[in-house]
Amino acid sequence: MTQAPPDIPMRALFDAQYQASRAQIDVPLAVRRDRLKRMRALINTHGAALADAVQADFGVRSPQLTEVADFLVLRALLGDLEKHLAAWTKPQRVKTPLYLKPASAYIQRQPLGVVGVIGPWNYPLQLTLGPAATALAAGNRVMIKPSELTPHSSALLAKLLHETFEADELCVVQGGADVAHEFASLPFDHLLFTGSTAVGRKVAAAAAANLTPTTLELGGKSPCVIDRSVNLADAALKIAHGKLLNGGQTCIAPDYVLLPRGMEAAFEQAFTAAVQRLFPTIAGNPDYTAILTERHQARLQSLVADVASQGARVVTLGQGGQTAGAPLNRQMAPTLVFDAPADSRLMAEEIFGPVLPVLVYDGMDDAVQYINERPRPLALYWFGTDHIACDRLLSRTVSGGVTVNDTLMHIAHENLPFGGVGESGWGAYHGEAGFLRFTQQKPVMVQSRFAISDVFYPPYGAKFDRVMGLLKRWL
Ligand code: NAD
Repeated sequence: MTQAPPDIPMRALFDAQYQASRAQIDVPLAVRRDRLKRMRALINTHGAALADAVQADFGVRSPQLTEVADFLVLRALLGDLEKHLAAWTKPQRVKTPLYLKPASAYIQRQPLGVVGVIGPWNYPLQLTLGPAATALAAGNRVMIKPSELTPHSSALLAKLLHETFEADELCVVQGGADVAHEFASLPFDHLLFTGSTAVGRKVAAAAAANLTPTTLELGGKSPCVIDRSVNLADAALKIAHGKLLNGGQTCIAPDYVLLPRGMEAAFEQAFTAAVQRLFPTIAGNPDYTAILTERHQARLQSLVADVASQGARVVTLGQGGQTAGAPLNRQMAPTLVFDAPADSRLMAEEIFGPVLPVLVYDGMDDAVQYINERPRPLALYWFGTDHIACDRLLSRTVSGGVTVNDTLMHIAHENLPFGGVGESGWGAYHGEAGFLRFTQQKPVMVQSRFAISDVFYPPYGAKFDRVMGLLKRWL
């Protein structure tokens, strides 16, 4: 290619990838390994510059946070792909049932072709490069559309990826909602979208027109259930960490707490101590991520103001940013909300900020009912030592993923598929589940020359009846 990818129209980039994917379907292991190696080298060489770009996007977001939440997860994902690639790429032999013997059979794992990846702004590196690396490992070509709300990191990511990969291997298309809609309308072989449930519906509709299968990694309200058997100090610290990481702008952050009635004062005290320990100050603290934009901050503030006007008790922990217009103004103080009405906007919308409503329940049945009356959440957290109570709650609720006695951590476990269910999404990636998401599992049956399948052929007669009689008893 003579033109640089940014100057090539989106459709032409797609066409080049499409043709390349059809010209080389059997993508050698060495090529896949090399693509992963280049991805790893990019992170290793340019990690600091990328983290600085993310910092510039948010105003305040520490490079250490990007190191742990974007790069550590990515490195784990890459390491897992590199380790298992050979085994996952191999044809998988399957057993052949007696009535089909002596035939043999296997599943051939092939790339799907061209995979589209649309990313959100909250973890702009992990949530674009992670799916892209998985799709590359499975032998696909990849086009990424990062968020327009993180212009610094999206532009740097595009520049670095275009220096590292051929445009028909991996390329980036930048732009806002119009570009994103056009992108989602390309006839990809698979489209992975990470973002809000509302936009996910549009993406699914655009993809359906091409019969493009999708993986939708969406959001929602993830409950955090506290059992009476809890160690409250420990739980509050882990909940505060999960809630306040990245200023609460995490898809799997605990959205609200379900607390046994009577524990409100103890929880408030424990959570306040936890916040103090993690973030002794808020405004000006380089570890405490700012809300991305003033629009996002205004939405959060209005959620809190509305619920306060409906009679909820709002507890602000620490002093948020003060300077109008400056990034520090968007460091929103951690906020606990007690007695939020069930029909408030705070309890209807995904919060996506450092505001934690605490709802009380009388018995576990109430908590289960509350969860099951709402859309299925992306994550669910449970805290306590009563394993029977934990098993009962987990077996009676359905969520995308679960961490018991901590928050967020299931996303870092590569042997667990990561994804949502219902309104929090469909499909999953990470580990072998991700590899298979971007793989055609082609069943191949190899007939034996000693096969007796002609017993099923017409003309039907006594021999057919005898064989069918035998099979009816067997099967
Ligand atoms: P968003 O849905 O507003 O935007 C995500 C991406 O979609 C952006 O790149 C945007 O340009 C693109 N987009 C906008 N309109 C589009 C259209 N019509 N067609 C196709 N694409 C379009 O989400 P966001 O605000 O960037 O991210 C926050 C949301 O993402 C939250 O709901 C959060 O829970 C969710 N999220 C989910 C996960 C997960 O893994 N499940 C991870 C991170 C964030």
